[in-house]
Amino acid sequence: ALTVDVNDQNKRRRQILNEFLDLKGNIRVFCRVKPLGASEKRKPPVASDTRNVIIKLTETKRKTYNFDRVFQPDSSQDDVFLEIEPVIKSVIDGYNACIFAYGQTGTGKTYTMEGIPNSPGIVPRAIKGLFKQVEESNHRFVITFSMLEIYMGNLKDLLVSQATKPISPIPLSLSIHTDAKGEVEIENLVTIKVKDFDEVFKLYKVGCRNRATASTNSNSVSSRSHCMIRVSITCLGASERRRETNKIWLVDLGGSERVLKTKAIGRRFDEGKAINLSLSALGDVINSLQHKNSHIPYRNSKLTQVLKDSLGQDSKTLMLVHISPKEDDLCETICSLNFATRAKNIHLGQNESTE
Ligand code: ADP
Repeated sequence: ALTVDVNDQNKRRRQILNEFLDLKGNIRVFCRVKPLGASEKRKPPVASDTRNVIIKLTETKRKTYNFDRVFQPDSSQDDVFLEIEPVIKSVIDGYNACIFAYGQTGTGKTYTMEGIPNSPGIVPRAIKGLFKQVEESNHRFVITFSMLEIYMGNLKDLLVSQATKPISPIPLSLSIHTDAKGEVEIENLVTIKVKDFDEVFKLYKVGCRNRATASTNSNSVSSRSHCMIRVSITCLGASERRRETNKIWLVDLGGSERVLKTKAIGRRFDEGKAINLSLSALGDVINSLQHKNSHIPYRNSKLTQVLKDSLGQDSKTLMLVHISPKEDDLCETICSLNFATRAKNIHLGQNESTE
C-alpha cells in the first residue's frame, strides 16, 4: 500500500508542477477551511470541495466562491505543502516568490505557516525544501535569512539580537529603497548567511520569540502585526562573476477582522486600523496586477513597498486565504472570501444560486 501512496503522490506532484507552469498570470489564490472544534455546532454554514467554498446565506440561498485549490477541514499539512512546492522550486529556477497567509484571527494562519511541534507548517518545510534543491543542483548557492515584522506601519527587525557585529547600541530604523534595477533593499535589516536547515530553524525560533515577547499580550501583537521572513538565494555561476539573487517572502499577515466590528478602542483600535489599511493596500496592488494596470499602487503601505519586487512581473505569488466554518464568523468569512475573489485573475467564479 505504501508504494501505491508514494506513486500517487509523485503523480500528483508532477501534475501540480505542470498546472503551475501553465498558469496564466503569476498569482494563485488558495483557500483553507479550518476544522470545527469538538464542541462546536455541526452543520456549519460553510461547505467546500477541492475547488469551491459554498456559503449558506439563508435556508434557500447559496453563494459559491471558487479557487485554484481549496483545502478542506480534513486537509493535512502534507496536502497543503504538496501544492506549494512548485513555488519553492521556482525560486531556484530564478523567480522571486511570495506566499501569504490571510484571514481573520484564529482561522489558522500561523498553523499553516509555522505549524505546531508535530505538524510543521510551510515555513520549515519550504526552508528544508530549498536546501534540498540546492544540494541536488550543480550550482553553488549562498543563502541568507532575515525576519521582520510590520507593526503600526513600522518595520521591526526580529533578528537584531543575532547580528554578528552589533550594528548600534540602539536598533537602527529600517528603511526601504529601490535600486536602479528595481530591486528592493531594506537598509539595516540583519541578513544572516546560513548553511543548513538547523541553523535557519534556530534563527526562526529566535525571531518568533522576539515577536511574541514584544508585548505583555502576545496574542494581541501577533494578530496585530505582519510577520515576514525573507530567504534570499544567490546562485554563484561557474565563474563566480555571474551572480543572480532571488528571494522568497513567507508572510503571516495580521488578522483581517474589521476593526469597527471588533469594538476595539484605544491602542487596539489603532493597531487594527493599521492592519486593515495595509491589507487593503495589498488587495489593491494584487488587483491592479491582475488587471495589468499601468499604475500599481505599491507606495500605499510599508507591506507593499517591502514586497514591490516580489509581487507581479516575473514573481510567483500565492495567497492562502483562511476561513472559519462557524456561523458566528460568517460575516468575516464572507469578507475574506470577497477579498480573495478580488485577488483572483478571473472574476467569473462567483455565483449565487437559489434552491
Ligand atoms: P491565526 O494565526 O489565524 O490567528 P492560529 O494558527 O493561531 O490562527 O489557529 C488558532 C488555533 O486553531 C490554534 O490552536 C491552531 O493550532 C488551531 N488550528 C488552526 N488551523 C488548524 C487546522 N487546520 N487543524 C488543526 N488545528 C488548527
